[in-house]
Amino acid sequence: MRISLVYQILIAFILAIIFGAIFGEAIEVVEPLGELFLRLIQFVIIPLILAALITGVTNLGTGKQMVRLGGKTVAYFLITSLIAISIGLSMGFLFNPGEVADIDEPTEEEVDEELEDAEEQDDDVIDVILNIVPENPIEGMAAGDTLQVIFFALALGIGILVVGERADPLKNFFDGLAEVMFKITAGIIKLAPLGVFGILAPVVGEHGLAVLMPLLVVIAALAVGCLIHILVVYGSTVRYLGKISPLKFFKGMTPAFLFAFSSASSAATIPLSMKNVQENVGVSNKTSSFIIPLGATINMDGTTLYNGVAVMFIAQFYGIQLSFLEIATVMIVATLAAIGTAGVPGAGLIMLTITVTAIGLPIEGIALVAAIDRILDMIRTGTNILGDSACAVYVERSEHKDKAFQSETNETA
Ligand code: ASP
Repeated sequence: MRISLVYQILIAFILAIIFGAIFGEAIEVVEPLGELFLRLIQFVIIPLILAALITGVTNLGTGKQMVRLGGKTVAYFLITSLIAISIGLSMGFLFNPGEVADIDEPTEEEVDEELEDAEEQDDDVIDVILNIVPENPIEGMAAGDTLQVIFFALALGIGILVVGERADPLKNFFDGLAEVMFKITAGIIKLAPLGVFGILAPVVGEHGLAVLMPLLVVIAALAVGCLIHILVVYGSTVRYLGKISPLKFFKGMTPAFLFAFSSASSAATIPLSMKNVQENVGVSNKTSSFIIPLGATINMDGTTLYNGVAVMFIAQFYGIQLSFLEIATVMIVATLAAIGTAGVPGAGLIMLTITVTAIGLPIEGIALVAAIDRILDMIRTGTNILGDSACAVYVERSEHKDKAFQSETNETA
């Protein structure tokens, strides 16, 4: 009997939680499985993003189409980010975690540890934006800097479009590379259940309930905020803009969601998101090749929402009242910081320092959330990747108004 990948991932997910809870930290022995899977994904991700985005752009046809599609995508990303940060701040206000949570001031050691990380991240918003442009694209690829790879890919794709026929060999080369990378990735994805188990079980084992309890209200504030964002914003995007059933969308995206939740990495989820959004939701290869890698790198609603909750939490904990101007600053800075956040575990916590310092909150506050950040990361990453697929559904419908979504929606994974 063959169990479809979706159920395999679900079973791995449930088993990981059970085994993690039973064996506690001893379940770390399975960590190499997760590590192996993540390495396999990392091994394909840079050439995959490069080739998929270049073909994504060159297949758009004309420069005009590219500008239209790109414009819609970026507008959607920005609007949903602003909604996310508003929900995050509201949740922080409603749940009042800084007052309610049962925690002490962070110890000096905890603060030092966090400050060290924060010092490494001494960029401000301007640096984050400047950093998108690689000084050397090969270096950007070698360092695995997805934002720089995206910049390079978009530039190459647009260049190929503009040059036209004479650039055909290059276009064909990247088309071929994209096909090959998709094939290799499809093989790797079959191992996703092992990856989910190997990554998630040790996380559950390490973060037993005892670690989470005092900060449960912070987790709840983020989880409720993300749930509202997912159901209301993405639900209505697919329903009213994409004209497809939200149920079909959420069901189809479940494997990618579970994987993003377990791995806390949007970048590692790119292959599965592409597969799900194409095969289960019916978005074309053309639209998803463009939007999914781009979205996984710059569109992070969960991370933005988390910035809102965390800022309110830290302000409440230190008894600081935020002014209207400070709230407005948080909205803008958090949106930009999320764009610069890499799609890897823990990146959001480091980038939170940008938002926290922008309004002069004590940076030690970061240490308050650090202990539970992995759990928060899982919630925000699951949200992050759903935002990209919702955008893909919207753009697909608006580009092909009368055409039905791909009919052969064989729900294999
Ligand atoms: N881990 C998140 C992601 O990959 C980024 C973050 O830490 O907020 O989407």
